[in-house]
Amino acid sequence: MTYQSVRFKKICCILLIFLLSVSASACGKKVIYADGDGSPAEAQAGPAGDQAAPEVPQVTEAPPVRELSFTEEQTRAGDLILVNADHAYDFEANADLPLTVIREAQTYDYPVSGEEMKLSSEIMPALDAMIRDCDEAMGTEYTSVSSAWRSEEYQQNVWDEMEELYGEEYAEKYVAVPGFSEHHTGLALDLGIIYEDESEGTFSESENAVWMAEHAHHYGFVRRYAENKTEITGISNEAWHFRYVGIPHAAYMYANDLCLEEYLARLKDTTSPEEPLSVEAEGRSWQIFYTDGPCPEPEGAYTVSGDNCGGVIVTVKL
Ligand SMILES: [Zn+2]
Repeated sequence: MTYQSVRFKKICCILLIFLLSVSASACGKKVIYADGDGSPAEAQAGPAGDQAAPEVPQVTEAPPVRELSFTEEQTRAGDLILVNADHAYDFEANADLPLTVIREAQTYDYPVSGEEMKLSSEIMPALDAMIRDCDEAMGTEYTSVSSAWRSEEYQQNVWDEMEELYGEEYAEKYVAVPGFSEHHTGLALDLGIIYEDESEGTFSESENAVWMAEHAHHYGFVRRYAENKTEITGISNEAWHFRYVGIPHAAYMYANDLCLEEYLARLKDTTSPEEPLSVEAEGRSWQIFYTDGPCPEPEGAYTVSGDNCGGVIVTVKL
């Protein structure tokens, strides 16, 4: 090795040590060196010359708090999304919706009015249990599913048909505009009555409707369009239409007589990562909060659902 290269290395080492000490003090943070007891030790400069480069002090800091963040697309997908005349369903954000054919997935044999009728596979166990328990309570097996997931094209057909038959005014009043129907979510369905002779009954006049209205929340469903909420939901009283939101949310909405519009507004107005809503239901406990930006990641198991209004609802299982 030449004299010049040794001299060059020496200069480099001295410069490196100088830069390290300047940057450590300039950064203004509490720097803890890796040698253990938390008291800063002197950085050990390695011997100059032909030896190895000086050892760079290992800097460790307290582990950063993990952050919960989400994309804009995630605010438009999940069990709690609001879909109504003012909030369109985002088909792209929900491209991964796990649709399944009800007749193939059902574990309890209730009538379904359509071979290919689909729902989100994630709500099938809850739906099966709810219908089975209703039938058991009634002592009959009449509860059926009369409508479930609808594509945009399907909803367009319904709209066109109604418009042709009864005129535009009627269609506007009774049919959701394609893209704005809760049936697009795969989380909503209409219940019906089908008797043993396969004739149809009227669900809204049945005892089953009364049972469902009182018990659906135990399974994570809500009766979405109640008579006393028509001004908020924009939909007339529908005893047959149920929407899955998940047990803690359904329990709170039922206990406080809130429709989904009101519930989401309450979460947005009154909760935050620091001040979650505590809910106990079915022998379990949850904390629920709204956020529209990154926040510290909650401890334990949690799920995130968009509200389709620009934020997310975080549900933490305790
Ligand atoms: Zn419906």
